Amino acid sequence: MGNETNLVRCCIVGGGPAGMMLGYLLARAGVEVLVLEKHSDFLRDFRGDTIHPSTLEVMHELGLLDEFLELPHQKVYELNAQFGEMRLTIADFRHLPTRCGFVAFMPQWDFLNFLAKKATRYQTFDLKMEAEVVGLIEQSGRIIGVRAKTPDGEIQVRADLVVGADGRTSIVREKARLQAREFGAPMDVLWFRIRRTAEDPAVTMGRFDAGRIFIALNRGDYWQCGYVIAKGQFEEMRRQNFDTFRAAIVKLAPYLQDSIHELRGWDDVKLLTVRVNRLDEWFRLGLLCIGDAAHAMSPVGGVGINLAIQDAVAAANVLFKPLLERHVTMDDLRRIQARRELPTRVTQRLQLAVQDRIIARVLTDTQPLKPPLAVRLLARYSFFRRIPARIIGLGIRPEHVSAELLRAGVAAHRR
Ligand SMILES: Cc1cc2nc3c(=O)[nH]c(=O)nc-3n(C[C@H](O)[C@H](O)[C@H](O)COP(=O)(O)OP(=O)(O)OC[C@H]3O[C@@H](n4cnc5c(N)ncnc54)[C@H](O)[C@@H]3O)c2cc1C
Repeated sequence: MGNETNLVRCCIVGGGPAGMMLGYLLARAGVEVLVLEKHSDFLRDFRGDTIHPSTLEVMHELGLLDEFLELPHQKVYELNAQFGEMRLTIADFRHLPTRCGFVAFMPQWDFLNFLAKKATRYQTFDLKMEAEVVGLIEQSGRIIGVRAKTPDGEIQVRADLVVGADGRTSIVREKARLQAREFGAPMDVLWFRIRRTAEDPAVTMGRFDAGRIFIALNRGDYWQCGYVIAKGQFEEMRRQNFDTFRAAIVKLAPYLQDSIHELRGWDDVKLLTVRVNRLDEWFRLGLLCIGDAAHAMSPVGGVGINLAIQDAVAAANVLFKPLLERHVTMDDLRRIQARRELPTRVTQRLQLAVQDRIIARVLTDTQPLKPPLAVRLLARYSFFRRIPARIIGLGIRPEHVSAELLRAGVAAHRR
């Protein structure tokens, strides 16, 4: 039994993009929210730094955009790739019908700190760091709260609704016994940073060559690099000389020749085990899962953060009133899944097609690479580049903060 019990309307497990955005939106509308985050801060391993045009649009709707863009960031207007010898732009964000025709690259902790700071202005918001949820509290088939470990001992939180926004290894979905469908992936990704010099190229680039894929994201004074490998290959690679790995990178990105030695060994390289899955049902009585906890996305297109934020906006639009009235029904929860399942399904289907038809082929290719038909079409007709830009930048069925939810954000809730 816990030594402290908290009572709130909504308890959100996980302070990632989904949890913090939902926490902010609900607190702004006057709903008492507690976000539990297991880490002591938002500073942690790289897990995507992309703030998409659709998220920037949501920030605009909330009146936060100008202040948000004062934080250090890089604006990326297009994504480029090189297939064998062919260079091309695969997505051009300038044509999107949004205020910001670019992806803002910003460390995820800056984004989360910004949301936390804004949310803390509301009396109805509470964020507890170093609170790791270890179990759910259930009564007559309904989830009525969570148990969490904190440095001061175990606590209990009782809530009208528990939201699992605890990412792809979600304890909430496991404890709630929600079933996930796994779709598999032919690859894993190795992530690392390398210093960027003034002589290096400026563009954010994906390089595809027989047997290898390398991504370099321009982050100002460093490159955030991703090296795609066949699934499960990492253990074998680790047994090889690290110089072999360095040489493979320089072959794809010769401009890294001088700085590659700053990568000292395998400890500087982080493995992302790619998983793609989706819950059959995202909810139970008293509980909802959103973001990666409901659907782990493939890194193809870098859209996981976008979907997590969009889920949060859709959930807040539906839930703020029932939460204020203390009457969240299964139908409310069903409506959220119905709204967000289609965009998730379509995006995952596209990701799986790219994984199977392009990535798996490139990784097993030994002959000089011939760009696939889809890539040749993108290179030839600029109009086609608007399609990936839309899918990556906006997503399918972009969400907007509803007028009612906006109106509910009255100053009365401010501290
Ligand atoms: C290496 C890497 C690179 C990526 N690159 C990109 C990219 O470029 N663009 C992109 O859009 N997406 C990218 N992604 C995916 C993206 O990070 C996720 O899709 C997105 O963060 C999902 O947001 P979320 O809020 O659902 O979950 P998460 O961001 O995973 O947040 C979950 C939060 O819950 C907390 N938590 C977990 N368990 C508990 C618990 N028991 N109790 C309390 N708190 C808990 C975690 O500490 C975390 O803060 C990348 C992921 C990785 C790993």
